[in-house]
This record gives sequence, structure tokens and C-alpha cells, in this order.
Amino acid sequence: MVKPFRKTLTVLGIYNQIRPFIRPYRLMIVGTLVLTLIGALMAQVNALVLKYTVDEVEALLKLPSPMVEGIHVLVVISAILLGKELANIFINFGQKFYGEKIRINTSSVLAQRAIDKILTYKVSFFTDENHQSGKLQTRIDRGIESLTRLVQNFFIDILPLFANAAIALVVMYMQNVYVGLVSSIVVPIYFWVSAKQAKRLSGVRRQLRNQREKKNSGLLNLINSIMVIKSFVQERFEGKKQYDLQMQLMESQLYTRRTNFIYDGLKTFIEQFGLVMVILLTVYLVLNQQMTLGAIMLHIMLFNNVSAPIRQLHRIYDDMNDAVIYAEGYFEILNADQETERSGNERPEIKGAFELRNVDFTYPSGAKALSNVSMKIQSGKTTALVGLSGAGKSTVINLLCKFYVPNQGEILLDSINLEAYDNEHLRSEIGLVLQRNHIFQGSIEDNIRYGSMEVSFEQVQEAARKAYLHEQILELPQGYAHDATQLSGGQQQRIAIARLFLKDPPIILLDEPTASLDAIATQQIKNSLDAIKKGRTVVIISHSLSQILDSDHIYVMERGSVLEGGTHQELMENQGMYKTIFDAAAKSLNLDKLVESYRD
Ligand code: ADP
Repeated sequence: MVKPFRKTLTVLGIYNQIRPFIRPYRLMIVGTLVLTLIGALMAQVNALVLKYTVDEVEALLKLPSPMVEGIHVLVVISAILLGKELANIFINFGQKFYGEKIRINTSSVLAQRAIDKILTYKVSFFTDENHQSGKLQTRIDRGIESLTRLVQNFFIDILPLFANAAIALVVMYMQNVYVGLVSSIVVPIYFWVSAKQAKRLSGVRRQLRNQREKKNSGLLNLINSIMVIKSFVQERFEGKKQYDLQMQLMESQLYTRRTNFIYDGLKTFIEQFGLVMVILLTVYLVLNQQMTLGAIMLHIMLFNNVSAPIRQLHRIYDDMNDAVIYAEGYFEILNADQETERSGNERPEIKGAFELRNVDFTYPSGAKALSNVSMKIQSGKTTALVGLSGAGKSTVINLLCKFYVPNQGEILLDSINLEAYDNEHLRSEIGLVLQRNHIFQGSIEDNIRYGSMEVSFEQVQEAARKAYLHEQILELPQGYAHDATQLSGGQQQRIAIARLFLKDPPIILLDEPTASLDAIATQQIKNSLDAIKKGRTVVIISHSLSQILDSDHIYVMERGSVLEGGTHQELMENQGMYKTIFDAAAKSLNLDKLVESYRD
């Protein structure tokens, strides 16, 4: 029932990977370890005091007035035990607190490192189907969670318990080698059974967690899709899906419980067996006068210290297994250095004359998007890319932004190869407006300000005014503080235009900026764009006749190639693809009737 997982990272491998992250906390770690050791020594004090007490009381009983003689024993015992507990408060606090501090620090460093690293990756990294946002998030979260748990286990759970056990065993050997030997024999058996338990449960806890997540998100999806479910009358189908998930979850839960009950029973028996052996041996040694009465108590308590950590073993084993599996996914993302974006160093003043020379490009998924594309984009002019969808127009824009690099051929900007440009410099000189532009969670003001962070509120308002958005914002109850994600598609598009006004770049790339808008919004956005276009290099992908007509130069693309290029007039005379597309677009507008209604 357990799915096999790919497992190439070992615990040692994890340690090597995680070492740089915990290195800054070296001092804290050493301190925690020292406190752990002191704590482990302290844990044996009770046993030793008990032995001392029993032996002293036994000796006192033989005296004529044991009460009077015994006062000093009581004082010593109380002083040691209370003193120890007082010291323990500080030691425990220090050990747990610093252990937690290491855990929390490691967790936040791991999380931040993943974010910093991912931001440097190429766009292709994010379009890879293995790196979809949900998957990436889960892999990072799980990796961090399991690594953090490993650190916590080590410093807070395992280490104190095992240090305690090791010292207890040493004390046992020091007191009596035979008793030490008996405990040492029971321990491996106990160990073996725990390992068996862990193996049987290995992965089931993970499976349980997955099933719970699925069950929870299942309900969420169900609520989100309720209209579709009802309209297709699929209530029974969806109900059955949830029922099956619930059954699987139940099966895993019962399996875990059953296995645990069986093994826990067996382990308790072995522990008790060990205890019986220790009692039998110590009683024999006492009766044989090789040991004092107090030693029975001492060894029983020490044995308890030895067996305590092993009770936790199966849980720790499972956590280790989780860490090995999930840490691998996390470190794979973190170490994907081949995915880091390459950047040049050139930061010249940019005018915006692009030239594509025999460019071939295939997406990493294997989709060939451009073959032998050559085109010139004049600076200060508007160039339109026209063609049916899938022709490769957006791909050209992706390449101009250096989101991807051509496989063959080259792209020049102001006669310098695009690869030589510093990416930040290049992108800060390009304004990109897409069909749908991303609106961040937050206020309208912050969203507009994304175009240029350091502008004043007045400048934000000015940009909104130029994008025909200001009046509409004022009508909202919270004005510029309104949640931008609640705006309509047209208003969100205007935010993108307002950002463009703030960014004020010499190059503007527009990918169907008005495709999903109503007529009024299209008209207003066209006006805004006409205002900003002047004197800049503009590349526009559009199906809108008016926007195409406004262009200085037009390239027609089909299946990844440039078919023809020229002005509107030239292309119409060419009688080629452009004319076909243009005629079809004009016909779809029902131009005859339109002209007629405007003639009246
Ligand atoms: P257009 O903008 O002309 O509609 P695109 O440039 O978007 O065309 O697409 C050109 C080709 O590249 C299409 O076959 C498309 O499926 C493919 N393509 C576009 N984007 C990606 C991507 N991110 N990953 C893989 N293939 C893509």
C-alpha cells in the first residue's frame, strides 16, 4: 500500500546540504549540545540519590537511634534533589529554547533561500510542467517542513534522550558489568522490533497526510465548482469521489493504529522482560552480597532511562525517511543552477532598434515556435505583428524581453547582441502590456506604483488620469486604497497602462492589449496608448484593424515564419496573406452596413 519513492539522498547527504544553513548558529549549537550533556548527567541524579537513600537508611536502621542520626541524610537528599531541580529549570529552558531557536532560524533561512534562488531562474523554469506554482510551493513547503522537523528531532527530541540513555548505560556498567550487559542485550532486541515497526509504517504517515490534504482540498474544489457540478447534475459522481477518498483515508488510519497497537504491545513486553531481568539479576547480586539494596533501585531507574528513547524510535525513523525524500525535492529546486538566468554586463543607452537575424526558437517543452525569422524593428516607430494565433508573435516578444534565448540566429538591439545586455537594464527600458496583466493582491495605488516604486501619490494619480482610470477610482468607496483584484478586466488593463506611464520606457511591447475589452474600454486604452506611443519604439500584436492601420511597419507571420513585411499599402498591393487576413477582419465587421449607417 506504500508507494515507492525515489530516494538518492542519504541522511549524511542531507547533513552535508543543510550544514551551510546551520553554520551561522554554530555557537548556539555547541551551547545546546553542552546543555544537553549536562541535562543527561542530571537525569541520572535521581537514580543515584535513591540508591544513596536506600543504602543510608538501611545502615541507619542498624543504629540505636536512627531518627537523630538520619537528619543529615534527609538534609543532604533534599538539598541535592531540590538543587538539581532548580538547575534543571535553567538547563531545560536553555536546551529547549536554543533548540527551538536553531529550528526556527533554519526554517526561515531555508524558506528565504528558496525564494531568493527561484527569483534568479529563467522563465522556462516556471513553464516546465514539473514546476507549476502549486507543485513548486508544495515541494518547497514539504522540504522545509521535513528538514525543520529533522533539526527539531535532533536537538529537542533525539539528542537529549539518547545522551540520557548512553550516560545511564555507562553508569550501569560502572556500577556492575553484568547488569550493564543485560541492559545492552535487551536494547538491540528492542531496537530491532522498533525498526520493524518503523518499516511497516514507513510512508503510511506520509500517505495519511497526503490523503488528508486531498480530502480537504476536495471539499474546497467541490464548493468552488458547485455551479458546474449542479448544472451537469454530477452530485452523485462528486459524492462518490469524496466517499472513495474517505474510505482510503480510513483504511490508512486503521492500518496505522493496528500496526502500532501490535508493536507497542510487543515492545512493552520486551521492556518489561528487560526490567524483570534487571530485577532478578540485581536481587541475586544483593542476596549474594555483591551489591547493596539501593543498587536495585538504581538499576531499575537507569534501565528506564535507557529504554525511554527507543520508545520514540519508530517516529524518528519515519521523520528521517520523510526528510530524505522531501529534502531531495527541495534541494533539487535550490540547486538548479543551470536554470539561473544568464545576463550580460552592457548597459548602454537604449534607443530601441531591434533586428532579428535568422532566429530559430523551440520552447523547452519541444514546441517549435520560430524558424528562420528575420525582421527589423525601427526605433521610434510602431511595428505590428499580424498573423493567426499560434503563428509565433508572442514568442517574438518573449525573445525581445530576453525571457528566452534563441536556439539559432541572433537578436540585436541598437547593433549590440541582446545577450550582451544586462537583463535588469534591458527590462527597465521595456514596457510590456499583455492581453491580461497581472494584478497583485493589494491596493490600486500599490498596483500602479509597481511601474515605478519611488513616485509620489500625485504622480500615481496623474498616471491613472492618463489611463482613463482616475475618475473611476474616485467613485470607489476606498478610492486608491481599494483592492485592485476586485476591479473589472478593463480597469485592470488600465492599471497596466498607468504602470506604463510611470515606467516611461523607450520601448513598448504590446501583446493584444485590448483583445478582451469592451468597445468603450478599447477606445480609451487606444487613446492612452496613442499618447504614450509618440517617439517610442513600439511592437504591437493586435487583431484590431485600427491598431494595425496605425502602424508604420507590419510583419505577417505564419507557423513560426515571417511571410511578408511592409506598410499597409504595400501589403495590400502584395495580395498575400495580409490582404486575406485584413479582408476577413473587415468582412467580420460588416463594413458595408457600418458605412451605410454612418452615411445617414
Ligand atoms: P501567437 O502569439 O502568434 O498566437 P505564440 O508565440 O504564442 O503564437 O505560439 C507559437 C507556438 O509556440 C505555438 O505552437 C504555441 O503552442 C507554442 N508556445 C507558446 N508559448 C509556449 C510555452 N510557454 N511553452 C511551450 N510552447 C509554447
